[in-house]
Amino acid sequence: MKAANSILSSYGVTVFELMSRLAIEHGAVNLGQGFPDTDGPEEIRRIAAEALIDGPNQYPPMLGIPALRQAVAAHNKRFYDLDFDWQTEVMITSGATEALADSLMGLIEPGDEVVLIEPLYDCYLPMIRRAGGVPKLVRVTPPDWELDRDALREAFSDKTKLLLLNNPQNPAAKVYRKDELQFLADLLIEFDAYAVCDEVYEHIAFDQPHIPLMTLPGMRDRCVRIGSAGKSFSLTGWKVGYVTAAPNLLGAISKAHQFVTFTTPPNLQKAVAHGLTMDDTYFDGLTAEMKAKRDRIESGLKHIGFETAPCQGTYFISADIRSVGFDEGDIAFCETITTKAGVAAVPMSAFYRNADEKNYVRFCFCKKDEVLDLAVEKLGIFLENRG
Ligand code: PMP
Repeated sequence: MKAANSILSSYGVTVFELMSRLAIEHGAVNLGQGFPDTDGPEEIRRIAAEALIDGPNQYPPMLGIPALRQAVAAHNKRFYDLDFDWQTEVMITSGATEALADSLMGLIEPGDEVVLIEPLYDCYLPMIRRAGGVPKLVRVTPPDWELDRDALREAFSDKTKLLLLNNPQNPAAKVYRKDELQFLADLLIEFDAYAVCDEVYEHIAFDQPHIPLMTLPGMRDRCVRIGSAGKSFSLTGWKVGYVTAAPNLLGAISKAHQFVTFTTPPNLQKAVAHGLTMDDTYFDGLTAEMKAKRDRIESGLKHIGFETAPCQGTYFISADIRSVGFDEGDIAFCETITTKAGVAAVPMSAFYRNADEKNYVRFCFCKKDEVLDLAVEKLGIFLENRG
């Protein structure tokens, strides 16, 4: 029989799946997977439930229901002073993942180069390669996650079509500073390239505000900005994403959406429209809640001997396994703590193409306080007994 697509077939079972399976098998406290253990606001869920019963439940408009597109445009204005037309410059998708796939399919021509900054969210490379793009990787590394500007400049060429930027960045927990964004913006202009900006953690930035690359001079029409209701409202199973981009970009991106999913469930769209118009108490509350959890797990991990890398945003924190006397690599460490301490985490090497960053593990902290405390306690007991 003829083979299936070679690029996608080449990806095996991910380490995320392996760790999750192991966590279930051993009944471990799961700080591996990145989702909250409580659901987002009831008022949003109630609207979705009522809209499901009341209908209509037929195909909504391809770009998304007007109420949600208007809410996305208003949210862009309210938080970032961005002016975008909800009718021609906003589209709703089935999750940020679909928005990313649409953007890459819509913008990349085979042979185009795409610049990325490791550590990478897992779907980026397969999607870029499947679209015919050639990935050009630069990296930030723990513990300081500083941009290597020379390496970045080297990665750009006349063939660069776009930069795929995740800010705030999972799992580096890095929130890009204005001067770093300006450096990126200058490169995009110099090389006449676009940026696809995965900003799903836009409301989870702790010590400095999140700045969309799109807000910098000259960037409005070069950037695609992607958000996710899953992250902003702690409703990850809903898979509702939103894309903001100038018509020259959104035109092609919306074709990908049209041919892949076409629409997104209308009741969820109606509910997310309400969510985006909630007042600042909600958004400030989300940031404050996650910041308190960041502080809680950071001090807990430090107390039992871990050195942690700075965590400026997202709901992930990285810890150096060498600081607790472990030098057999991150995968072995995650297996050990899952089976022996009863706590699951994710190895950092999973986020680098060559799997060569082996001394850190990622803990997810969007969990109940008692779950975080239990995980730290179990890890502490394990480390103590290990001697
Ligand atoms: N981008 C990043 C960086 C993420 O961490 C995630 C979720 N883990 C996504 C995109 C996917 O978002 P969604 O669930 O809305 O598809």
